[in-house]
Amino acid sequence: MVRGLGRLRSVIGRLGARPDGKVLILIYHRVATLQSDPWGLAVTPGRFAEHLQALRQHARPMQLRELSKSLRDGKIPDRSVVVTFDDGYEDNLRNGKPLLVSHDVPATVFVASGFIGDEREFWWDELDRLLLWPGTLPQELSLSIAGETYHWELHEATEYTVEDFRSHRGWRAWNKSPTPRHSLYTSLSSLLRPIGEVERQNKMNELREWVIAAPRRRPHHRPLSSEEITRLNQEGLVEVGAHTVTHPVLSALPPDSQRREIARSKARLEKVSDHPVTSFAYPYGKHHDYTPETVDIVRRAGFGCACCTIAGVVRKSSDPFQLPRVYVRNWGGDRLAHLLNKWFDG
Ligand SMILES: [Zn+2]
Repeated sequence: MVRGLGRLRSVIGRLGARPDGKVLILIYHRVATLQSDPWGLAVTPGRFAEHLQALRQHARPMQLRELSKSLRDGKIPDRSVVVTFDDGYEDNLRNGKPLLVSHDVPATVFVASGFIGDEREFWWDELDRLLLWPGTLPQELSLSIAGETYHWELHEATEYTVEDFRSHRGWRAWNKSPTPRHSLYTSLSSLLRPIGEVERQNKMNELREWVIAAPRRRPHHRPLSSEEITRLNQEGLVEVGAHTVTHPVLSALPPDSQRREIARSKARLEKVSDHPVTSFAYPYGKHHDYTPETVDIVRRAGFGCACCTIAGVVRKSSDPFQLPRVYVRNWGGDRLAHLLNKWFDG
């Protein structure tokens, strides 16, 4: 068996073809220098430039729509990479696009269409600003969420100095919470994620009132505007993909609401970008965040492919409507190059 397979591989090798190519789809969110980043969403512009150079040197950057076509044709190019961004932050245009253009690396930006032009921060960013920035908060908080009442006490973390803030800047939401503020942040993140948009906004209003003196809104923590999406999409190097309207956990919604979230985001983005929108990314994107029914709704809505956030490489046999992707952190170019080689050769 093994010897036979070895012979087959060497024949294929002599013919210059690979039995099965591998494509890696990378997930970015932001190209920015942030003072606080609990979800590790940002890569600094300097590091992003290093990444693009590493991608050019160690792989072949390709468009997501080109990958989608290759999958339909049953031919997968080897050692190729697709760059994607989720959510639609304004820095994708301001900091990301100029670097993509100068390195000639294509990308797809998945935009949650209900936030286009919103001057407010995404709710998960606002939660960071309200709870994890220096200042004073009331000692306790009670909130009813999805029919349950929750109670938190901040104890010594009521006062939070600039030094406290600095010393916990490297904290990530999947690490152990160093203060009661961080515990509150992680509990609220998971409690507010699966509820409906209206209830979430009501709870955010209650939180804003509870905070009393909130730190000032950060002007660059905002989604792209319509005009910025048009500019992002110009020249064709960066394409726009859909990411629902309100960024819900789709599996928590009835099918009709899922259908509306998916179809309306496609229609709105096609109008704004004046281009067909053929790719989709499931919000949050893990197994429990969408269902087989969701996949079917996406397919029927007229998309050519969809991405999840389950880690893995894309192969010829991959489901075009559940393409695996790999998170990229604020690593140096060498680290990314090393990981690329591991994914491709492993
Ligand atoms: Zn997202």
